[in-house]
Order: sequence, then structure tokens, then C-alpha cells
Amino acid sequence: MKLPSLNIQILVAAVVGVVVGLYFHSLGADNSLVKGGLYASGLIGTLFIDLLKMILIPLVFCSIAVGIANLRQHQQMHRVWVSTLVFFAFTTTIAVGLGLLASNYFKPGAGMQIAMFADAMGEFKTQQLPLPEFFAQFLHGLFMNPFQALANGNVLAVVIFALILGVALVMGGERYKNILVLLQEGLEITMRIVSWVMVLAPLGIAALLIKLVATQDAAMLGTMAKFMTVVIGTLLLHGIVILPLLLFLITGKTPLWFWRGARESLVTAFATSSSSATLPVTMRCSVQHLHVKPEIAGFVVPLGATINMDGTALYEAAAALFIANLVGIDLNLTQQMIVFVTAMIAAVGAPGIPSAGMVTMVMVLQSVGLPAEAIAILLPIDRLLDTLRTTVNVQGDMIGSLVVQKLVSKT
Ligand code: ASP
Repeated sequence: MKLPSLNIQILVAAVVGVVVGLYFHSLGADNSLVKGGLYASGLIGTLFIDLLKMILIPLVFCSIAVGIANLRQHQQMHRVWVSTLVFFAFTTTIAVGLGLLASNYFKPGAGMQIAMFADAMGEFKTQQLPLPEFFAQFLHGLFMNPFQALANGNVLAVVIFALILGVALVMGGERYKNILVLLQEGLEITMRIVSWVMVLAPLGIAALLIKLVATQDAAMLGTMAKFMTVVIGTLLLHGIVILPLLLFLITGKTPLWFWRGARESLVTAFATSSSSATLPVTMRCSVQHLHVKPEIAGFVVPLGATINMDGTALYEAAAALFIANLVGIDLNLTQQMIVFVTAMIAAVGAPGIPSAGMVTMVMVLQSVGLPAEAIAILLPIDRLLDTLRTTVNVQGDMIGSLVVQKLVSKT
């Protein structure tokens, strides 16, 4: 019997995951079937993420170093750099703007009182990290002993070292030909392993979604419904209208074409809530399905997975205004501008792992004097919203690679 295509399997798995998760939720946590089911789905889901993470660091390392070396050979390096950074900054700005506009208009949290959440906040301790320190720590984390960065899975530091190595390879020219060939073959072989891991993707995705849906606290969701609706609505606006529109205007590619090529990665991002874990799949979609040249995708996509997070930036801005409403503070224009800037920085600094946005959120709140402890209120709904914001984050990276390819080929 011939199995349906991987794309179809992944979509079916996502639906099955949500339906079974809802069923488990209705049975209650004490049911023995639910207990066994959650244990199994937890195990399978974690193993799937472990497999993706296993291949992540070799992939990022080889793809960036090879990407840079190839770009330079084509004399395109400067244009790729500039268009990538401009595109990332532009789309993140739109995302934060949307988050702020929607929150000002719908005012989620207005009329509710933070006292309602006293219990949640009481037990919560945040790490105080004011903006200048956050910035210093961020810069400090960029340059590390490469072996330590590789061993600890520090993606951003690996990206930076691979960039430097790529430049050194080019400068050395013929002298380091063998190292370049080694890295090129390393990239090829890691992509081969990614395609093996993807065979397990339907199972992993179903398992992750079962666990996520079954363990949600329904009462909490009711209280936060308005805020969640605003965030989800704005994320969808950005992901379904703004980004595809930009793609269409710049490259002429339709949203349907994009969805067909990108869905493996979008669904994986949704289920794993991790841009980093999804990165191997995102690379595969960009190169194999969306036909972005490997040297462009190899640079734009891994960089995007670490610094380009539209969904996270949008969420952080909206959440800051939500908390301000709860505390009963009206943020003026200047304060909102501060939220704007810090939300952008926070999104750049957030690693691509589940709930990373929650950690950097503290900085956004503190920048305008909001109580950092208030993120305790957001924690119960965070994993749920993380699914969609990670999907938008990853979508931005793939669209970025297509746009950059187009911009570079024009000139
Ligand atoms: N989970 C997100 C990502 O990996 C980051 C976040 O917003 O928490 O892209």
C-alpha cells in the first residue's frame, strides 16, 4: 500500500492530535487511559524534538559557513546581508505596530483587576534584568569558544562563529578548499538525516499536540479569552495577510504556492513551539520545496530562526499593554514607543525555544515600570499562544529567504 505524501500525513496528524487531545481533556486527568496516553505522547513528542535538536547544530554550522563562502564567490554577500536585515527589521516593525494598534483599539484587560490573579503572582519570582543589562548580556553571548557553543547548543553563538569561518574560508580561497568541501558534504549529509527524521514527523506532531491540548486549563482560558482573541487575531492578520502580501508584491508568488511548499515547516513550528527545533525542516522546505538557492537559504533561514521573530515581537507588545490595562495604567505615546523598541529587541534576543518570549517579556514590562511578576498571569496561556507565534516566526524566515533571493537577483 502506498502511503499518502508526507505533507498530507503531517496535516492529518495535526488534526488527529488536536481531536485526541480534546477527547483526553474531556475524560479528565485521573482517567487511566489519559494517564497512559499522556505518558506515551510526552515520550514520543520529546523524542521527535530531540532528533531535530540532534541535527540542528551541525546543520546551522555547515549551512552558514558554506552559505557565506558561496555568496562571496558570487559577489553577492553585501546585498544579501543588507536585504536580509532590512526585511527582518521591516516585518518586525509591522508586527509590533499591529500588536500595539490592536491592543489600543480592543483594550483587552481593561475592567479586569490584577488582584484577581494575586494567587498566581504570589508564588512567582522573576529575574530582574533591566534593558542595558539585557543588551550587554546579549552582546556578550554572541562570541564564545566555538566548541563550547557547539556542545551547549547555543545557536546564536554558533551562527556568529560560522559567519566568521565562512568569511575566513573565502579570504583564504584555494588554500582552504578541502575544508570547504568537507563542510559542503557535511551539509548534504545532515540534510539527508533531516529527511529521515521527517518520516517520524507525523507521529511526533500528533504526540506533541495531544499533550498540549489535553493539559490546558479551561477555566483560565475563559478569563483570558479577550486577550487571547486579540493576540490570535493579530497574529493571523500578520501571517495570513501582511506577510503573504509582501511576498506577492515582491516576488509575485501566491499565498497558496507558499503554503504548499511551507506547510511541513509551519505545522512542525506549531507543534514544537520552537523555531530552533523546526530549523532543519524550515531549511528543507526553503531549499527543496520553495526553491530558494541553498547559499541564500543557508544564510537567511538560520539567522532568521535566531533573530527574526515577528510573532514574538507582536505578542510581547500586546501583552505589555494587556498588563498595563490590568494594573490600571494608561501608557502614553512615549511609553508605548518604549514598548515598541523593547519588544523588538526582546524578540531578537529570545532564543527559538518554547516560551522563550516569556523570559524576555520581563524586560519589556520593566522598561515602562510595569510589575514583572505580572507575567505569572500569562504563563498558563503561554504555551497555547506560543504555537501560533512560533508559526509566524518561522513563516517570516521562509518568506524572508524568498524575498531576499528575489531582491538579490534583480540587481
Ligand atoms: N517559541 C518561540 C520560537 O521558538 C519564541 C517565543 O516567542 O517564545 O520562535
